Amino acid sequence: QEEVIHCGGCGVKLQLEDPHALGYIPAQALEKEPVICQRCFRIKNYNEASSITLNQDDFLKLLGHVGHKEALVINIVDIFDFEGSLISGLARFVGGNPIILVVNKIDLLPKVTNWNRIVNWVRKQAKEQGLKVVEVVLCSAKKNMGFDRVLQAVDEHRSGKDVYVVGATNVGKSTLINRLISDYSDLDSELTTSQYPGTTLDMVEIPLDDGHFIIDTPGIVYKHRLTELVSKKDLGKLMPGKALKPMVYQLNEGQTLFFGSLARFDFVRGERQSFTIYSSGAVPIHRTKLEKADELYANHKGTLLTPPVVKDLEELPPLVKQTIHISKGKKLDVLISGLGWIKINSEAGAELAVHVPKGVKIVQRDSLI
Ligand code: GDP
Repeated sequence: QEEVIHCGGCGVKLQLEDPHALGYIPAQALEKEPVICQRCFRIKNYNEASSITLNQDDFLKLLGHVGHKEALVINIVDIFDFEGSLISGLARFVGGNPIILVVNKIDLLPKVTNWNRIVNWVRKQAKEQGLKVVEVVLCSAKKNMGFDRVLQAVDEHRSGKDVYVVGATNVGKSTLINRLISDYSDLDSELTTSQYPGTTLDMVEIPLDDGHFIIDTPGIVYKHRLTELVSKKDLGKLMPGKALKPMVYQLNEGQTLFFGSLARFDFVRGERQSFTIYSSGAVPIHRTKLEKADELYANHKGTLLTPPVVKDLEELPPLVKQTIHISKGKKLDVLISGLGWIKINSEAGAELAVHVPKGVKIVQRDSLI
């Protein structure tokens, strides 16, 4: 019979299999005292929070719990995958508690950006997605930009309440929380984890000086984001490390662009026009003729067309096609969640087809840039 061991820190059941799931402990750490999960170890030794992830159902339960309290909610989203990382039902789920929308990774946008325009864009898009927010703050957790504004907004809207930080995975929530810990919390007081009632979920609590807390919640996994479907190695390629360089393609109708083997963009019909691509430079774009595209993919997916490599491609759902009609004079982005977007400014209109692994979200939206 297997012996069940619990973490000496948060009390969660320990497991050796999944480093990203709750209660993970590396085998060698079992021999050390105290026996605590990797998450508690990091919090204790480095004062550092790490991401635990949740599926949609568990996440909604957790939000319901927040909805029964008086709290301030911070939703962190990723500007590179805005529609993919936004929690669209959030306002409803947290029951009227105020929400601050923190838009992270703005270091990925061009240096000369009209930030007011971006804030307005974010407000409008959030509203369209059904998310009412009291404040929009742009920041870069990595580059330490806009961070004062985040803290200021928290101060303004908190009025003595606990602050819950929620977000999808990979939006930079841990990076931001760790900044909060080092810049904001009284480092003498210890971080604690608390269990969310009735579950094994734990949340990191950062004490504030008035006895309240900033509470980190597990990241939600959205399967409609390409970033959630690929291997760790390819995830690193999908997420741009530095400011996006727009790539302009002048295409004739009947031309196709492959994004590795991850996605495909066909210009099916229309006058010669330009398409501007905003995606990570680590995903090579391959141009070909539409009439040859099926054959090219069949013969070269995972080899000439990477990422992913053949072995990892087997883990990915097959590509499915979505047709998009752009009407005359329309300016918009076609976002492929997790991969980036294609900016279209079509004077004469166009018929397009986008192929993505089944389930990946495609969104038409006002141009971000
Ligand atoms: P979490 O899953 O939301 O906790 O996300 P992490 O904090 O682990 O970050 C996910 C990835 O996004 C990591 O590769 C980070 O380096 C990166 N990241 C986090 N913040 C930023 C940021 O402000 N700008 C950029 N470009 N990358 C960031």
